[in-house]
Amino acid sequence: MTLRLYNTMTRQVEDFAPLTPGRVSLYTCGPTIWNYAHIGNFRTFLFEDLLRRWLEASGLTVFHIMNLTDVDDRTIQAAAKAGVTLREHVEPYAAAFFADRDYLRILPAHAYPRATQFIAPMITLVESLLAKGIAYRGDDGSVYFAIARFPAYGRLSQLDQRELRSGASGRVSSDEYAKEDARDFVLWKAAQPDDEAVKAAWDAPFGRGRPGWHLECSAMALDLLREKWGGDVLDIHCGGVDLIFPHHEDEIAQSCAHTGKPDFARVWMHAEFLNIRGAKMSKRFGNITTARDLKEDGVDAAALRLFFFQTHYRQRLDLNDESIAQAVAGLRRLGDFAARLEAAPAASSGAVGAAATAELEGAATLLREQFTAALDDDLNAPRAVAALFDFVTAGNRALDRGAGASGPAREAFRWAAGVLDVLPTPKAADAELAAWVEERIQSRRAARQARDFAKADLIRDELAARGVTLEDGPGGTKWRVG
Ligand code: AMP
Ligand code: ZN
Repeated sequence: MTLRLYNTMTRQVEDFAPLTPGRVSLYTCGPTIWNYAHIGNFRTFLFEDLLRRWLEASGLTVFHIMNLTDVDDRTIQAAAKAGVTLREHVEPYAAAFFADRDYLRILPAHAYPRATQFIAPMITLVESLLAKGIAYRGDDGSVYFAIARFPAYGRLSQLDQRELRSGASGRVSSDEYAKEDARDFVLWKAAQPDDEAVKAAWDAPFGRGRPGWHLECSAMALDLLREKWGGDVLDIHCGGVDLIFPHHEDEIAQSCAHTGKPDFARVWMHAEFLNIRGAKMSKRFGNITTARDLKEDGVDAAALRLFFFQTHYRQRLDLNDESIAQAVAGLRRLGDFAARLEAAPAASSGAVGAAATAELEGAATLLREQFTAALDDDLNAPRAVAALFDFVTAGNRALDRGAGASGPAREAFRWAAGVLDVLPTPKAADAELAAWVEERIQSRRAARQARDFAKADLIRDELAARGVTLEDGPGGTKWRVG
């Protein structure tokens, strides 16, 4: 089976084959760092994390770029309101984003370009579009993209002309009268007093100003791709569904008009929205949950990962207290089983033990097959999670019947749980206990070597008093709680 992915561009699930065999370039639109990212943003980032991990688990080398939007209307307004520079305003939110990313166990991207660090490539891109006659300077000194001069416009969003017109306002432009066509979007915004006040304005041959949001992703993706990877077409480009139009449509227009290539990315993937307690998440409505809120509530990141992966990324999802509680219970089950499987003693003797071990290993083979088939099928994480829980059920049954420690079973479970990264986070107290137990085991071994068996027994009792059981085997001493 090969990996198949749903491509928003074609509205179909297609076989995935990267442009260069074995290598995948992945661009994911990152957070706008005007505030803390909310848990809805992280639904999209966790989908992208799983995509990245599955590409890698499939033997592909991934070059992952995630931008941080540090210049846009929201960051400038927030900085101006706080009376600080743009940089001063966004810096703590960038740091918070990385901390939240680590809490949620999201693998770091290979590059985190920020718009303010890529002003030169953005200027070059605007100049290229002006030279080609696809961009023009409006009456207000801003530079706009002329949609009428790019016939492929609208291919990704498949909106009709009327819808395109109504969608063109809002986040993309402020002054309708300066444009030749209401649908045109801004590439470079003429500097305003607020931009100057927060130090978010740059000189350019076509006038002082700052980049439009869409331009940032095109310029950064093309620049990093060329420099670090080669080529000017991405293998996969991702974001949430709200980015299909206008953001990704505009990225395609700018990039393809510049490169002359028919595609900016070969596969476009979009995660559906997370709603919180039934309502659409928005800071305006005040129903915002950030990753740090959940962390402070003591929610294990692994439970959140499990919760997100139990719904397909193309399906809407609702976050509420009950769904979190369910994920926490599921996580406990996984954690208990993981401990039991790791601590399983040698098989009980005779044919019964051997049959149970064979049953356990059969279940492990099934896990590998089902897990792979699920994720290969447009990243069907809910089916992959179900395969993992089926293995827990079958594994517990086999262990009840006396199945013994099995390398293949442990490896299959570690592998599948590792791809999703959904095993419980060891608690600090657990880590402390583990360090203490290891130290006691060393002392006991030393006592035994010195033939001081009374002391060795004393240490065993000391461990037992804290619920720790020891098992001496050929590979050394193993321990478990309970
Ligand atoms: P922003 O910080 O608004 O630029 O968004 C960062 C990413 O989060 C984008 O890929 C958005 O599409 C995505 N996103 C925003 N809100 C949600 C939500 N409620 N559920 C899922 N993804 C979201
Ligand atoms: Zn983007």
